[in-house]
Amino acid sequence: MKMSKLFVQTLREFPSDAEVVSHKFLVKAGYIRKLTSGVYNYLPLMWKVLKKVENIVREEMDRAGAQELLMPFVQPKELWEESGRWEVYGRELMRLKDRHDREMCLGPTHEEIITAIARDGLKSYKQLPVNLYQIQSKFRDEVRPRFGLLRGREFIMKDAYSFSTSQEDLEKEYDNMARAYKRIFDRCGLPTKMVQSDSGAIGGSVSHEFMVITDTDAGENDVFYCDDCDYAANSNHAVSNLPPAKTDGAEFGMNEYKVVDTPDMKTIDDICAFLSIDPTVVCKSLVYIADKEPVIALIRGDKQVEETKLMNAAGAIDIRIATAEEIEELMMKNGFDAKAGFIGPMGMNNVKIIADNTVKELKNFVIGANENDKHKVGVNWDMLPEVKFVDIRLTEAGELCPQCGKPLKVTRGIEVGNIFQLGTKYSKPMNAVYMDVDGKAKPYIMGCYGIGISRTAAAAVEAHYDDWGIKWPISIAPYHAIVVPVSCNDELQMKVANEVYEKLLAAGIEVVIDDRDERPGVKFKDADLIGFPFRITVGKSIQNGNVEFVIRETGSKEEMTPDKAVEYVISHVREALQNN
Ligand code: ATP
Ligand code: MG
Repeated sequence: MKMSKLFVQTLREFPSDAEVVSHKFLVKAGYIRKLTSGVYNYLPLMWKVLKKVENIVREEMDRAGAQELLMPFVQPKELWEESGRWEVYGRELMRLKDRHDREMCLGPTHEEIITAIARDGLKSYKQLPVNLYQIQSKFRDEVRPRFGLLRGREFIMKDAYSFSTSQEDLEKEYDNMARAYKRIFDRCGLPTKMVQSDSGAIGGSVSHEFMVITDTDAGENDVFYCDDCDYAANSNHAVSNLPPAKTDGAEFGMNEYKVVDTPDMKTIDDICAFLSIDPTVVCKSLVYIADKEPVIALIRGDKQVEETKLMNAAGAIDIRIATAEEIEELMMKNGFDAKAGFIGPMGMNNVKIIADNTVKELKNFVIGANENDKHKVGVNWDMLPEVKFVDIRLTEAGELCPQCGKPLKVTRGIEVGNIFQLGTKYSKPMNAVYMDVDGKAKPYIMGCYGIGISRTAAAAVEAHYDDWGIKWPISIAPYHAIVVPVSCNDELQMKVANEVYEKLLAAGIEVVIDDRDERPGVKFKDADLIGFPFRITVGKSIQNGNVEFVIRETGSKEEMTPDKAVEYVISHVREALQNN
């Protein structure tokens, strides 16, 4: 490819709406252009990268025994009603009507469609297990599309779905997919961590995410991990053990139950300072709205609630903190008049209360009195409505690893893929069954496995860049190399550059020759910005028989003969593309 013909417009500046590196560079280097919020054109360079990621995914999924198909992007409401998701899937689901007023949606994911396909074609245990996948654009009307391709509204995903006859077979396929995922991300030049993650309100199910670890804003997930063992989990699922703490109010002289004045003391810090106690003897009460219903979450004063855990414990699919008005209404319903800061579980008989494990141990503790400017001290569980104790606590760094007891660390991660044991979540309600050995109809035991193709490409930029631009891993770079004649008017330089270019092409290397009559500085800048893994510069030293060979990843520069440079590129590329 000639640079003069390559469809690419690099920009001088970063786009003003870009906050993270991948978004900045992919726009500046001419890979993508925004069409509308969260929707991008993938220009030729980007499309080459995406196809390479897709092909790695495809090869590894095929190698793992999965079969590719392609489902429609537009889906009918009826199937979503069968699964029960039409009602509960929130506003991320882009709903529309056709000319006959039939309701449809743009596919955000394809569980319903694939389950219907399976139900139609997989009738006997003899046909199972099966794993079917597709690579396709998805649409989700994300609340906050941002970070370019990392969180778009339209994006490309690989989604796979497995159908088995037993939990044991599902687990086998799950492990098979985990291995395939590791190979995929390794081949894309992306180190990932496989971490435990939340799998929604369905009890007993298992899921893991593949995270690209980063210390930048692009990492939207907190990942807790242990250096001493293999424990790693998304914050929405991470658990920890706590070091011992003072949890009996008697240690602070609060052995007697009474109501005390706490004028204007709305925060835990205020109350602790005022009463000279540790927050570990305070039982904090927080009001949330779970699927429109209020719930009260109880947790020890020094700890925070993890909202996904609370949502699951409430059996809800949506959770948010209650407004002042909603709190007022809830208190009235229970016969009280108190604002946030003075709420407690005593006498709250008309609301679901979910208590964190941390409050179970408390004795002679402090709660809000359900009366403004007052708290109750010396409280014990026998005075309170019965509650269920569960884990709704946000893990914090420094707390102890649940597996080995060493302090946990925290970092941030970009989720590039996930694997999920669904069980019969879709097959049961959709009556998707096969005939088992015993002649009985049984629902498939399903798994689903996603990879964000466009997010993976962007994550690769987050993991490989410098001040000048992108440093693509060879396996997914749009082109492997660029040949840069310093002066297009110099006959010898042009001749050698063309020879080098032809030799690389003949060896199957994807190469660009920068034939533009531009200053060398401009050419080098563009080469670095676009991120060609190798650059062969043909300049003045060709008079001594040498070219300059530059490796983008390390920045190393070396003078050598054109033939040696050609050989280097070929051998490096071949080595990088090996995939055994
Ligand atoms: P997230 O928590 O980041 O919203 P998710 O759990 O909703 O992800 P899945 O529904 O499991 O994601 O989708 C599978 C994969 O698709 C994710 O692992 C991610 O790589 C990718 N993905 C999900 N949402 C987006 C998006 N808005 N833009 C780009 N890629 C996405
Ligand atoms: Mg999402």
